[in-house]
Formats: sequence, structure tokens, C-alpha cells
Amino acid sequence: ASSDAGAPLPFGSTIGMIGGGQLARMMGAAAARLGYRMLVLDPDAACPAAQAANGQIVARYDDVAALRQLAERSDVVTYEFENVPVGPLRTIEGRVPIRPPAVALEVAQDRVVEKAFLNGIGIPTAEWRAVDDPQELDHALLQLGGDCILKTRRLGYDGKGQAVLRQGSPHGDAFASLGAVPSILEKKVAFTREISVIAARGADGALASFDPAENVHSLGILKRSTVPAAVSSVVAAQAAEVASRILDHLGYVGVIGVEFFVRADDTLLVNEIAPRVHNSGHWTEAACLVSQFEQHVRAVVGLPLGLAARHADCVMENLIGAQVERAGALAAEPATMLTLYGKAEARPGRKMGHFTRLTARGDA
Ligand code: ADP
Ligand code: MG
Repeated sequence: ASSDAGAPLPFGSTIGMIGGGQLARMMGAAAARLGYRMLVLDPDAACPAAQAANGQIVARYDDVAALRQLAERSDVVTYEFENVPVGPLRTIEGRVPIRPPAVALEVAQDRVVEKAFLNGIGIPTAEWRAVDDPQELDHALLQLGGDCILKTRRLGYDGKGQAVLRQGSPHGDAFASLGAVPSILEKKVAFTREISVIAARGADGALASFDPAENVHSLGILKRSTVPAAVSSVVAAQAAEVASRILDHLGYVGVIGVEFFVRADDTLLVNEIAPRVHNSGHWTEAACLVSQFEQHVRAVVGLPLGLAARHADCVMENLIGAQVERAGALAAEPATMLTLYGKAEARPGRKMGHFTRLTARGDA
């Protein structure tokens, strides 16, 4: 398993994918269409990507022997989630190209490291303080003032590991309720909307970004992405510039998701970054020539990036838990693209699929 950094991997080469969820499944479909193979590492033999890959290594993500096997059987290794254990992953660096680079995981896995990185390259975020014990929490609440959000530094997703602390109301044992783990206190941002930019950097350093999507969350989980977002072209260009700056500073190769808060005065704050394809970019499959999944495949195999231009307006909605029962009706809609993840059990809060409806220009 080796690669010549300059030339694209030949068609038929194998992409090693750490994680076998729906994102890997959709990247597997894109890889197959371009003539590449995908080998998945996931502990669950029945994971969503198992049905869209050429093979699977059934093992934990921190299993160094399994990672070594993945490196030997793949021509490039990538991942579909940001919590890939970095120590074990680094043991295969040098054996196979890892794209995006492991440093992107180190930055995205820890909310304090992430915000310090962003602020360090001149990108504003919510005001924040690292919080390691209840006294630091009290101190940080006084310093930041107003309503705040306490989040665990690591392993939060879909709004998990967070507590809103209202100004003036007792926060009791908020620190303990999140597990008494290293945390971050963020000032609550009064935003008018949330947008995200899905962007890519190729192996040659080329940059491309999709139009921003406007996102609505429910119970901490993405519910809907609408494109175009109701922002000016100036704001859209600023968001793309911020994404590009992050990609360049990380020496990144692949697709990244950057989540923003837009404030009433049209200023942007970055909320968080995801070093992978992103739920708020699923619409690209229906409304762009090259989807975020194909773009990621193109980047990691060293092909030139594809055209990220959008040819339709659209709305993407997640099917969460029992909402998957709508699938039959959605499949009967002619202008709707339905995607199901092949998960057997529709547990509450579980992402089961999504659909993208094309909308007439100006409808969205
Ligand atoms: P996750 O990793 O679970 O996606 P986020 O940090 O993106 O965590 O938080 C989930 C959602 O909570 C955000 O999309 C936003 O709606 C809200 N939120 C998070 N942080 C803040 C903040 N500092 N101010 C206002 N809203 C926030
Ligand atoms: Mg988020």
C-alpha cells in the first residue's frame, strides 16, 4: 500500500474507510461509481456501509493490528467520523497516506483545541473558557456573563454532552451532570440563523466550496438544510473564505464541514468544524453535479476536485427514528431524492435516512 503523492491513485485502487455508518455508505457508492474500491473498518458486521463496500475488517477503531491490516490492504486511508482514536491511527502513518491528516482529528476532537486553533488563525467564535472543575465554571460564568452553554470538550455530537446555563438561575451541578469531565463554557450566541459550508481541498491544494446551507436543528439534531441559505453573497463568500483558510492551515486533503452562526449584523462566528463529509451537505447529491461524497473520494485518491456548482434549489430533511415510516410516500414523489441507510432498528434520535426535494428557484 503506497502512493505516489503526485499522480492520482489508479482506478481500481482501494480506499480504506474507518467507520461504517451512513456517511461511509454514501462515500462507498460514490467510490464505486468512479471505479474505486472501499474497504471498511467497523466493529459491527451489519454496519450501514457493509452493504456498499467491497470488504470489511470487523474490529474496533483502536485495534492497532486491524488498522495495520487496513493500511496494508488499502492505497489511502480516510474516515467518516471525527472521533477516530488518533494514537492508534498514527501507528499506520508512513505505511499509507492518511487523508485528511490526523492533525485535523486532533483539532476537531477537542472543543478547546478547536476554538484555540480557529481564534489563532483569526477566525472568530463564541467567547469561551476552558472549565476543568466547578470553581472554574463559576469563575467563567462571571467572566462571560449572560446565558452560556457548557459542553464537554470531547465526544459530544447531536447536542449530547451540553447544558444551557441561564444567567441568574442556579446551575446546580451542571459540571457533574456532564460527567465532571474537562469542559468548555461558551457564551450563548444570539444568532439569526445557522449556516454551514461544505468545502474541499484537493491533493494539489485546490479549493472548492459548495454554497452555504441554512440549517435548523431540533433537540440538538439537524432537522433540515435549505439551499440557498438566506444570506447575502458577501456573507456566503466570507463563509467560503473561512472554510478555505481552515483547510489551508491544516494542510487538509478531503471534504470538511464548517458550521457557522450568522448574527443580526451579518457577522459570522464558527461554531464547529467536522473533518469529514457532513449531514448538512447531503443535498449536494441531488443538486450538484459532484456531491460532497464524490468530492471527498476525488480529493483522497488525488483526482482533481469536481465542480461544486449547484444546479437547483433544494431542501434536505433527515428521517429520524420513526420518521423513516414516511419513506414509502417519499419514494413516490417524483422530484424527491430518497436515501435510506439500511439500519434495521429505528431507535429514537437515530438517523435512518434523508430526502432532498428540489424546489423552484426562489421557493426555498
Ligand atoms: P454538536 O457537536 O452536538 O453538533 P454543537 O456545538 O454544534 O454540537 O451544538 C449543537 C447546536 O446547539 C448548534 O447547532 C446550535 O444550534 C446550538 N449551540 C451550540 N453552541 C451554541 C452557542 N455558543 N450559542 C448558541 N447556540 C449554540
Ligand atoms: Mg454541530
